[in-house]
Amino acid sequence: MEILSERINRLSESATIKMAQLGRELKAKGKDIINLSLGEPDFDTPEHIKQAAVKAIHEGYTHYTPVPGYPELRKAIAEKLKRDNDLDYTAEQIVVSTGAKQSLINVVLSLINPGDEVIVPSPYWVSYAAMVQLAEATMVNIPTSVETDFKFTAEELEKAITPRTRMLLYSSPCNPTGTVFSKDDLESYARVLEKYPDIYIVSDEIYEYITYEGKHESIAQFDFLKDRVIVVNGFSKGYAMTGWRLGYIAAPLWIAKACDKIQGQFTSGACSIAQKAGETAVSGDMTPTFRMREAFKNRRNLIVQLLKDVPGFKVNNPPGAFYVFPDVSAYFGKTFDGDLIKDSDDFAMFLLSEANVSTVGGKSFGDDNCIRLSYACSEENIRKAVDRINNAVSKL
Ligand code: PMP
Ligand code: GLU
Repeated sequence: MEILSERINRLSESATIKMAQLGRELKAKGKDIINLSLGEPDFDTPEHIKQAAVKAIHEGYTHYTPVPGYPELRKAIAEKLKRDNDLDYTAEQIVVSTGAKQSLINVVLSLINPGDEVIVPSPYWVSYAAMVQLAEATMVNIPTSVETDFKFTAEELEKAITPRTRMLLYSSPCNPTGTVFSKDDLESYARVLEKYPDIYIVSDEIYEYITYEGKHESIAQFDFLKDRVIVVNGFSKGYAMTGWRLGYIAAPLWIAKACDKIQGQFTSGACSIAQKAGETAVSGDMTPTFRMREAFKNRRNLIVQLLKDVPGFKVNNPPGAFYVFPDVSAYFGKTFDGDLIKDSDDFAMFLLSEANVSTVGGKSFGDDNCIRLSYACSEENIRKAVDRINNAVSKL
């Protein structure tokens, strides 16, 4: 008999990974799919970072690593936080993990008890919901929409707080909306949170370097809150290192120690070679990162301009990350070939089969009116994809 645990039965599959996989399978069958589903830079890891990894192999960095990461890497990350964010952390407050995904689950499992409430502004990154569920907690959303550039107010935040609230979890720049919180936004949230000392704030800053307008800001800059903030960051997006699996947190020491403990039982320290490469990435030449950001910005400008002209699409101008999240609800209720398009997942499947463009329905991001398009691909593919989308929707 095949009996899975209730925990795994309850868990949903990652929608981003599922759509990307579906796109790959169709491609392998010979279909000309344009993949706008997976959020990953199309660039290769910069050469100097690769060379650091090659050197690490030859120098014998092939053994188990300290659970929270090599001391040199933790120190380099602490220096980066000072350099880029003006944040003071010691190396002991940094825990390196196998991707920011692991950093996030370490934090959630370390701080959250069954029955606790975690505030997650929506739309949110798909895995936040799964992580809250794994911790047997309740997710409380603050819904936002394209009309307000997917931002929420301090009043809305305060309204979502109850005596059971233990955590606020968000990303800025945001996956899936590209929204970036300004210093003023963050200060207004911080002033609310100041009144609730039992709430921890998890600030996922993995798209830090993919911010086009203004400067990236972290809520950890407000000293009155810093002993409750966990900054999550990583190497996947800014350095095009998705496959290396390297992320980290900067946190109060007692939380860092808890994450070290949990990781010591699950995975041990992150890959030795990836860590040595990460050390070079975080302290080395940032030119390739800034070049990638410029390319993403041009692509953002292009895709927003093109999508604005797609009938029925409501789109804003996202200032960060590499996603657009248009509202496509104008198409719900239409039928194609006898099939009813009733929600965002149906619409994404329609685009996959009719336009050969793979996107992700907004439902798994907590917003069923929208779809997510990742523009981390060539300008040629962006043009082709939007052309095909235009063609497909004209049939509805
Ligand atoms: N947070 C957000 C908002 C993301 O989009 C991603 C995407 N991969 C992650 C965390 C995890 O990144 P990784 O595990 O590749 O470091
Ligand atoms: N974060 C990326 C995305 O949202 C990668 C896939 C994933 O880890 O879910 O598409």
